[in-house]
Amino acid sequence: MPGFLRRTLTLMAIALLVLACTRTETDAPALAVAANTPPAPAALDMGIRWVRTAAEYDAISRSAYRTALDALANKIADKTWTALPGQTDAENLPPAIIFDVDETVVSNVEFQATFIRPFNDSKLNDWNNANVAVPVPGVVEFANRANELGVTLFFLTNRPCFEMAGDPDPCPQQETTYQDVAESGVPVDKDRVMLVGQQPEWTSEKSIRRNFIARSHRVIMLLGDDLGDFIACTRKKPLEPCTEEATVATRDAASKNYQDYWGNGWYILPNPMHGSWVSAR
Ligand SMILES: [Mg+2]
Repeated sequence: MPGFLRRTLTLMAIALLVLACTRTETDAPALAVAANTPPAPAALDMGIRWVRTAAEYDAISRSAYRTALDALANKIADKTWTALPGQTDAENLPPAIIFDVDETVVSNVEFQATFIRPFNDSKLNDWNNANVAVPVPGVVEFANRANELGVTLFFLTNRPCFEMAGDPDPCPQQETTYQDVAESGVPVDKDRVMLVGQQPEWTSEKSIRRNFIARSHRVIMLLGDDLGDFIACTRKKPLEPCTEEATVATRDAASKNYQDYWGNGWYILPNPMHGSWVSAR
């Protein structure tokens, strides 16, 4: 075979190989999710996969609730104790526990795994109305024991109130949230389910609602999956009384500043799927 022909054939072979490689890459099953279909399990982000399938998620959640359960009797008995920094003169107030709802009491991982992006509150509300709530591991035993011991349970969620066509209720989401907590097997009074917008000053800055509860109750424990369930001003968008956006550095400093509370009145559940940590820079 003449040299020029051999070189030409070699070059053509290389060109075909490059083309084949390029096509293989291009034609590989898309990890990106089409606009109108739920993501396939293999395409889910690692956080959702972890909560949905890892036994480690179950173990950590149970550990948090077990730690809280073991501390319950002492926190009730010690009238000088409060889990709200700055709460004073609470000795004679009845004890209360403040729970967040999503990923603290009820698990929405199946919603996270299947909803069509982008997120909006209506999609979660519709899904919650259509599905029986699943409890986060450990919460049912803990909440029932606290209830038996006479502790008042509050459920403080950043689900917002919004009007729905044909429904005169200005906040039908309160009923949905109440039903979700009840379905999960946790004792709940609808009057103690507190959503964003139920009162004009109730924003997603939860410290305002925590302080509202502190007027009538000694808050002995906080349970949540987000730093904002425990500490004020942890969100990128500052809302009253916060004046500056939270950053990775300010959030980290806040966690360390209150380190004595972690596992001691404050019990945090794992949530690698979403939260105020996502937007912090
Ligand atoms: Mg939550």
